[in-house]
Amino acid sequence: MFDWLIVGAGFAGSVLAERLATVRGEKVLVIDRRPHIAGNAYDHLDEAGVLMHRYGPHIFHTNSQQVFDYLSRFTSWRPYEHRVLAEVKQPGTGNTMRVPIPINLDTINSLYGLSLTESEVEQWMAERAETVDAIRTSEDVVVSKVGRELYELFFRGYTRKQWALDPSELDKSVTARVPTRTNTDDRYFTDTFQAMPAEGYTKMFERMLAHPNITVRTGVDYAEIRDQVPHRRVIWSGPVDEYFGFRYGKLPYRSLRFEHKTLDQAEYQPVGTVNYPAEEVPYTRISEYKHLTGQQHPKTTITLEYPSGEGDPYYPIPRPENQALYKRYEALADAQTDVWFVGRLATYRYYNMDQIVGQALATFNRIDASLPPEAANDD
Ligand code: FAD
Repeated sequence: MFDWLIVGAGFAGSVLAERLATVRGEKVLVIDRRPHIAGNAYDHLDEAGVLMHRYGPHIFHTNSQQVFDYLSRFTSWRPYEHRVLAEVKQPGTGNTMRVPIPINLDTINSLYGLSLTESEVEQWMAERAETVDAIRTSEDVVVSKVGRELYELFFRGYTRKQWALDPSELDKSVTARVPTRTNTDDRYFTDTFQAMPAEGYTKMFERMLAHPNITVRTGVDYAEIRDQVPHRRVIWSGPVDEYFGFRYGKLPYRSLRFEHKTLDQAEYQPVGTVNYPAEEVPYTRISEYKHLTGQQHPKTTITLEYPSGEGDPYYPIPRPENQALYKRYEALADAQTDVWFVGRLATYRYYNMDQIVGQALATFNRIDASLPPEAANDD
């Protein structure tokens, strides 16, 4: 008899397994239908021996001391600040150029052959910004800050490829995630902690799950096991609509097809990720893992990301009707007594890894406060 059946061995499931086993001494079974632990953050050595991320590049960054300290129990870190270039056609010449994204002072100066200062570039952007009465869509966010030309160059095509929707049809939250800077800071993130697990994510998860009270079974779906393994309670980090048999219909997601390539050269591109915003290029970005991991190797591995309507659920589509559908599932989830819904799929929202760790730690605190520990052994 397990105290807990945890569905999903990603951040949500693994953090909760570790806390329940270590702090409350409870017996936990963690399952995942994929053939490995670590969920979307899974990394491994490919055939050539290059450490790569199967589900696209995962860069750890957080402002939470609590999350960083918690994960530091299971890994040491390699400092890493992610940098991204966008390959675009220079206005006027049509020449292909690579410039920093998020847009910063160097982006504007290189694109337009200018040598503006910080305060001059603010003025330059203000002159191009369009007046938008109420910012509602992803298009509004960008044109109101930097104007239409930069919007079309960097955001319109990228967003249309990524979401199969025009930015004018998408919630403002999508492009609001990408800031605009007037200084020369070319880091993709500005969080206090920016680092990669020194030996990779999967090794960190292995240590998290290496507890005598935790049993892990991969390649197993909840539907196969739910009636076979006795358990008292469930942590569900899979899709919330799946738990309820899709009774109100499927929650819509965008997916990605990953093309992984190992190349017979030590380096492919100068930074971790190059974005390709042009609509005629079928992929959105190419990432090269050795920049992230610091691995020395004569070969290199890259991943091209092709947005797709089919495949694993990655990005909830932020439209009001989808949120309304999720709310109906959330009401069902709230009414369950012995099932906790945690993680990006169970709460139908795009979250970074650190946010999921924070969510899982908070869920643990709620469980710990509401269930007496001896309840686990009261049969
Ligand atoms: P997951 O990691 O998806 O884990 C859920 C697990 O549940 C899955 O392994 C799944 O197989 C399993 N499961 C589902 N249903 C069942 C079932 N019925 N039976 C058994 N198992 C089941 N975040 C960052 O902080 N930085 C980044 O750079 C970053 N890059 C990203 C890039 C991409 C392309 C994507 C899609 C996401 C990225 N993220 C990034 C977000 C990050 O992946 C998530 O925050 C994190 O994976 C969420 O963890 P989770 O445990 O909620 O979900």
